[in-house]
Amino acid sequence: MIAVDVEGLKKQYGDVRAVNGIGFHVQVGETFGMLGPNGAGKTTTIEIVEGLRQLDEGKVCVLGLDVRHELSKVKQRIGIQLQTAELPPNLTVRELLDLFGSFFDRHLPPDDLVGLLDLGEKQKVVAKNLSGGQRQRLSLALALVNDPDILFLDEPTTGLDPQARRAVWDLVRQWKGRGKTVFLTTHYMEEAEALCDRVAIMDHGAIIALGAPEELARQHFTESAIQFQTDRDLGPEDLQGLVGVSHVSRDHGDLTVYSARVPDTLAALMAHAESRGARLTSVQIRPASLEDVFIKLTGRRIRE
Ligand code: ATP
Repeated sequence: MIAVDVEGLKKQYGDVRAVNGIGFHVQVGETFGMLGPNGAGKTTTIEIVEGLRQLDEGKVCVLGLDVRHELSKVKQRIGIQLQTAELPPNLTVRELLDLFGSFFDRHLPPDDLVGLLDLGEKQKVVAKNLSGGQRQRLSLALALVNDPDILFLDEPTTGLDPQARRAVWDLVRQWKGRGKTVFLTTHYMEEAEALCDRVAIMDHGAIIALGAPEELARQHFTESAIQFQTDRDLGPEDLQGLVGVSHVSRDHGDLTVYSARVPDTLAALMAHAESRGARLTSVQIRPASLEDVFIKLTGRRIRE
């Protein structure tokens, strides 16, 4: 069964084509991610699907309901995470859960929600007195008050510390464990790889790749990545000619060569470094990642 079905979606702001005719679907029970750099069109897309923005062209159905014509029904069945700054500051955790719950026909018991988000001891605390991480968990709890079939998260971990990020990841996994659908956007490729069954990679308003993370990496790379640092600069141009190397990328101090012949390339690389009076100070051999796919398709990193 299809949770989200998008066809020929377009959205323009003045001269800016934010979303340029994209189509995709999300299956019920799937965790689906839109991955892309700033300005790729992720927020525009997710907010159109949520019914928060109007589309210019195309069709969007959520749980079989057209968002343009049946938005009030859609809203009963989806959960949207508010920015923590948008929470009413003077209501307690419990009051907010009760208030938000009153907007919906269907509810999860507040006790379940505080348990799920580890807010049990904070029920009587007003939102403005919560820590950043607790406020973040509260905004997640509020997105779940109506036991939504689809949980929408727009860049849910941007700017969070590792512990808070982990809490979001745990919640997404638990929610998926209940058979629910999660639709998230992110510009962290590790997040997409860790959480998503399938990922749409977006750039300049278009979907440039779509599939399971490991499948996308396999589709675009038969090679592995050899990522390394040296104590002396090596020119990427010279590395291109080394045995087995298909291409080379550079990110600040790190160089990465892609090769399907890792032992041969590694030996050649070490010999090359030695001939330039350089030493490899760290080497990591890994399968190609979504970041590598993005670099291959666009020539850029997701986060410049
Ligand atoms: P980010 O990761 O920075 O949130 P994004 O992938 O979510 O980026 P969008 O926020 O959808 O991308 O923006 C896509 C493009 O549309 C950008 O060029 C942005 O400047 C533009 N844009 C987005 N919202 C508006 C708006 N309300 N008015 C005008 N232009 C907008």
